[in-house]
Amino acid sequence: ARLYRVRDWGAGYFDVSDKGEVTVGVEFDSERQQISLMDVVAGIRQRGLRMPMLLRIENLLDAQLVRLNETFRAAIAQRGYQGRYQGVFPIKVNQQRQVIEEIARFGERYGHGLEAGSKAELVVALSNLPAHDGLIICNGYKDREFIDLGLRARKLGYRCVFVIETPTELPIILERSRELGVRPIIGMRAKLATTVGGHWNKTSGDRSIFGLSTHQMIDIVDALKAHDMLDCLQLLHCHLGSQIPNIRDIRSAVMEACHFYVNLVREGAAMGFLDFGGGLAVDYLGSRSNHTQSMNYTVAEYCADIVEVIMETLEPHGIAHPTIVTESGRPTVAYYSLLLFNIFDVTRFEPTPLPAADELSEEEPLIRNLFETLQQLKADRVQQCYNNTVFYRDELRELFKRGRISLRSRALAENLVLQIFRRIADLLDNLGDETPPELRDLREQLADIYYGNLSVFQSLPDHWAIDQVFPVMPIHRLDEKPSRDAIIADITCDSDGRIDSFIDAHGTCKTLPLHPIDPEKEDYFVGVFLVGAYQETLGDLHNLFGDTDVASVRINADGSFDITRETEGDSIADILRYVQYNPKDLLERFRDTAEQAVRRGTITVAERREIVDCFAAGLRGYSYYES
Ligand code: PLP
Repeated sequence: ARLYRVRDWGAGYFDVSDKGEVTVGVEFDSERQQISLMDVVAGIRQRGLRMPMLLRIENLLDAQLVRLNETFRAAIAQRGYQGRYQGVFPIKVNQQRQVIEEIARFGERYGHGLEAGSKAELVVALSNLPAHDGLIICNGYKDREFIDLGLRARKLGYRCVFVIETPTELPIILERSRELGVRPIIGMRAKLATTVGGHWNKTSGDRSIFGLSTHQMIDIVDALKAHDMLDCLQLLHCHLGSQIPNIRDIRSAVMEACHFYVNLVREGAAMGFLDFGGGLAVDYLGSRSNHTQSMNYTVAEYCADIVEVIMETLEPHGIAHPTIVTESGRPTVAYYSLLLFNIFDVTRFEPTPLPAADELSEEEPLIRNLFETLQQLKADRVQQCYNNTVFYRDELRELFKRGRISLRSRALAENLVLQIFRRIADLLDNLGDETPPELRDLREQLADIYYGNLSVFQSLPDHWAIDQVFPVMPIHRLDEKPSRDAIIADITCDSDGRIDSFIDAHGTCKTLPLHPIDPEKEDYFVGVFLVGAYQETLGDLHNLFGDTDVASVRINADGSFDITRETEGDSIADILRYVQYNPKDLLERFRDTAEQAVRRGTITVAERREIVDCFAAGLRGYSYYES
């Protein structure tokens, strides 16, 4: 557990059992119940689901909703805040039906609403939330159709708030609400001057593409005044970006937003809601730091700071405490999903035994030089030996290119080089800070490659696109010290298809300790954790690897678990349809090709049948490696 820092990033949900298996657990009336992921894997495989697979632990979604709502409630009660907290889940963070249905079902007790940033997301929100008072924050650019649907939903009892992102939306809202006879609830998205750190900071500052300038806000207030509709202006919205690592940035943004709020009340707007958007981070590294993939604060600190800053800023102006809204998506769903995959092959960069020195007498002198370098290798000469080795190796490669040495000689030379590098790496282990800079990543260059049955592009797009580090670790054999250092290659034919940044005690590192395995003979399962936010729909079909199988699990109060939902991933035919092929046509065409071969006499009719059956089975199959 310590090696992979599970207790640091696991937020109290993940741990390692005495049997050396990763467990996931939650509290039931202050009694913790945990289950082993290996038991879940066994249950899932009995039901015919395949690797790779996405596993959703429903209790973690519920627990995160409780954590957010109860922590705000506690901060509000402790400080005597007069308003309340009402969260909304931004659908874009995970739009999948299972996710939204669970949030709507479990979140109802807190009046947790949804945030919609497009017409499609508004449809999802309306079909999941209860009509009576269901809070829907409508962000994004809204056309007439979007606005009409939101206004009509008001008639059913939904509280649809149109957050104005650009001044052009207002005339449409005014015209349509007059036409339909519905008074809209209007919000304004402020462009704050406060900027924040982290990956997603382009949403903050003057050059943010979202939100209204102060001048535009005043124009909107004036227009609403002119239409006698200032009572409709009820919400101020701001969003500084996702995953804000530094609480001090959040504090100062909240303070700026509060002053916007004060001024809008002074202008005569009804107000009542102050919406801070997303930004509450997830500690992917478990380092509790100001690193982009971590956070230097707790959820309790986040809630307390927001409540405190609002009170301090509004009280001198005698303004009533608003309902606090946040649009936390990432922390709500990140823990809930994990990706499991098997390792189907391993490449090791290990030298094979060398011939005796006298067997080299016929070889190219450069090969004999390599042999001598190996014999002379000592801790105080590592850099020199490295330089010589690289020089001889490159010269030998040149000779091969010109046909002057054989493939066997080249193989011998490369084996010697590997032998030297391995020994240098062992010597470097004792050198610590004295390691010459050029040799610092030698261990990484020698790391094994474990081939994982997954597509990084489909399942971990943020790892590929923005170097997001997710916790990765084997889910079993953790009572055994892992003796190999490895990177993980995925199943796509793309050199970017790899996982090569991991969590260690100092932050991040480039290799992962794994157990030695023989993939032909044994199963080895690896988990990628905290992948519930953004990964599923941002993923793509690179190399035509499709959606994985998905299973939802619920942990019961007696410590058992149920597999509550199973969704089969894409078949090859499904994927081909996405890219405009018709699998039936493909099968027909292939059948014709086989028929022609029968006519030419190259295959028999029985062989034709076998070949066509094989093609048809391929279309029905899973796109991933099937053992
Ligand atoms: N609200 C808005 C307007 C957003 O654009 C986003 C995402 O960037 C969110 C909420 C979700 O934020 P987070 O990922 O920090 O939970």
